[in-house]
Amino acid sequence: MKILIINCGSSSLKYRLIEADTEDVIVKGQFERIGIDGGHFTYKQKNGGSLERNAYIPDHEEAVRLLVRILTDPDMGDLESLDEIEAIGHRIVHGGNKFTDAVVLTPQVLKEIEACSNLAPNHNPVNLHGIRACMKYMPKTKMVGVFDTAFHSTLPEEAYLYGIPYEYYKNEQIRRYGFHGMSHQYVSEETARILGVNPSELKVITCHLGNGASITAVKNGKSVDTSMGYTPLEGIIMGTRSGSIDPEIINVISENDHKTLSQVMDILHTKSGIYGLSDYLSPDMRDLTAAYHKGNPNAIRAIKAYVYQIVKYIGAYTTAMGGTDAITFTAGIGENSSLVRSLVCQRLSVFGITIDETANENGNDERIISTPDSRVKVLVIPTNEELSICRQTKALIQE
Ligand code: ADP
Repeated sequence: MKILIINCGSSSLKYRLIEADTEDVIVKGQFERIGIDGGHFTYKQKNGGSLERNAYIPDHEEAVRLLVRILTDPDMGDLESLDEIEAIGHRIVHGGNKFTDAVVLTPQVLKEIEACSNLAPNHNPVNLHGIRACMKYMPKTKMVGVFDTAFHSTLPEEAYLYGIPYEYYKNEQIRRYGFHGMSHQYVSEETARILGVNPSELKVITCHLGNGASITAVKNGKSVDTSMGYTPLEGIIMGTRSGSIDPEIINVISENDHKTLSQVMDILHTKSGIYGLSDYLSPDMRDLTAAYHKGNPNAIRAIKAYVYQIVKYIGAYTTAMGGTDAITFTAGIGENSSLVRSLVCQRLSVFGITIDETANENGNDERIISTPDSRVKVLVIPTNEELSICRQTKALIQE
């Protein structure tokens, strides 16, 4: 059964055609710089074949049209006919309170997703463009929406409510939603598989540390707390995002520096995090790591603060779940930064956690990096959001 995965960003469309029964990737690639100069398109096949083109791609509809053409191209394509695609799984960022699971996309469902757009104005509309373009060029194919927020729909009320007047929740649905749901779900299930236990018997803290970063407490297969909130700005320090701060700081910067509210918010989104903390040395952990090893005080300050916040969330979530069996690191920094993992785990020795530095330093693949006698297992698992979308799409169409 072949499933096509579509992930639309504001100026990109990433795709992956997966043989869902074996989970083999048949072909993957992306369209970049959609609607802006310097458009670029890649098509990378399982057998090593590939195609790259520079071309202006005016919009997502044109990207889908080109994708359909190349997929069924007699020379280069991987499909004889579009009928071979059983379903398309679309990534959708925000499902609001409404969508707590993957859903078959019908005109009525699209209207309801549109209604959640105010919760993710930069993401949901562009996700919908991609869906509509696929419906135009592949009208006979079943479409499924998989939501970033859905995995966190199991948060208990005490974890998702903010300490503001309840009317804001009742009238405007202001609550913690959480993000990176597919990644947290995928790595928590993989953690259970690697440890040889059922997800329903595992307490795991998943640390998705990329440019955006969030930490989730997964108890018995369900998300019970997560660090991102109403938007992906809340939580730990990120690449350029501040994470949680005292809201009064917004007032103070606005008044002292004569900045508008949107200018201050821009600082919190694009000039903060490890970038701002390192005095604008870099938002990229690779650069900061190199500088850290040379003793650069800006890099040391940023990395220490970053690590400290991760440790605080792990401590809090261990308490929230009444203990934890495992901690799993994923995404760009979680998968690749042995420095961050090592510094985090050193501060967790109070929980009886010890890591094997050789396993921590070596390997790119999924692995256990804690010592056999560590009370809590520590793992590194590369995330695979596309596979998570594929599994959820397959499960839904087979129901
Ligand atoms: P996004 O949220 O954009 O998907 P990624 O998951 O790709 O982000 O993570 C990007 C982050 O991962 C960057 O800070 C980058 O420096 C970091 N990273 C990637 N490779 C390494 C590495 N080898 N060592 C340390 N950090 C790395």
